[in-house]
Amino acid sequence: MMMDVFQIQGVRVNTHLSRHIVVQLLLGWGLVVAPGCASTSSSDTPDEGKPAAQQSSQAAPHDNLNATLWVQTSAEYRSLTRQAYAAARHQLDRALDDESRVAAPEQSSDTAADKPPAVVLDVDETVLDNSAYQASLIDQRESFSVESWNAWCRRAEADPIPGAVEFARYADRQDVTVFYVTNREHEVEAPTRDNLKRHGFPIDDERDVLMTKYERETWEGSKVPRRRSIARDFRITLLIGDSLGDFVSVPEGSSPEARRQIIDNHQKRWGRDWIVLPNPTYGDWESSLYNYDYQLPTGDKRQQKLDTLETPKAR
Ligand SMILES: [Mg+2]
Repeated sequence: MMMDVFQIQGVRVNTHLSRHIVVQLLLGWGLVVAPGCASTSSSDTPDEGKPAAQQSSQAAPHDNLNATLWVQTSAEYRSLTRQAYAAARHQLDRALDDESRVAAPEQSSDTAADKPPAVVLDVDETVLDNSAYQASLIDQRESFSVESWNAWCRRAEADPIPGAVEFARYADRQDVTVFYVTNREHEVEAPTRDNLKRHGFPIDDERDVLMTKYERETWEGSKVPRRRSIARDFRITLLIGDSLGDFVSVPEGSSPEARRQIIDNHQKRWGRDWIVLPNPTYGDWESSLYNYDYQLPTGDKRQQKLDTLETPKAR
């Protein structure tokens, strides 16, 4: 059988496949060049002159692609969130039977026992799934901005995290007040409330149970003052979130190692007082890898991540 010869990026390739099939494949990969051409210059690439959003994925990779697809498509992600909320329900039952249990580091059991029970939930990637926003950033080859994020929040279109509505409604039926403590900004509180209500999350309209960032002067990125505020009137039985700050005070600028140390310092809390949801798409776990220098170009951030990888040690 006579072999066809193709030129790929200046390299001659022999193949038994039909010329038609191979050319179709290579066109799809953007690798084929005209027979006889020794090479292509960058100015000959099909993406030349196109906006970033229209370039091929090879020309403009996005570091959030796999993480976002995992959240949106994997069976494992939704099983993990359901597992987390099953554990939360189990622990809530136990905490309701034991008034000495308090979950917030800002509260002590001797002052909490007589107070009515509450649970404190984070919002983003804890009860609401914003992977569609992440997907739009990937699609447009863009990165996070407060403007695009707030515009997404105003749409009030986030789906619920699997298991979250069922848990929150269960807590509500047990007369446990459900608080939502979020670092969404106060200016998007109304659409966030609409988004939660649309999915059936319990919202007590008699009191402020949706606590947003900047809603009060002391309510900034740290959630400590908001937990303190709840602890004045309630026994906080559970904290549920996807980020370390949803559970404990984290010093600003903490390194990945310092963040891991905080986890280790509270070993008995996890799976008991504190229930954590997986979020591989964003968070301080990621920004700590480039020292929270959000203005760094994407390539520089990526290099710092590559430098952090732990490869097998040389023997
Ligand atoms: Mg969150």
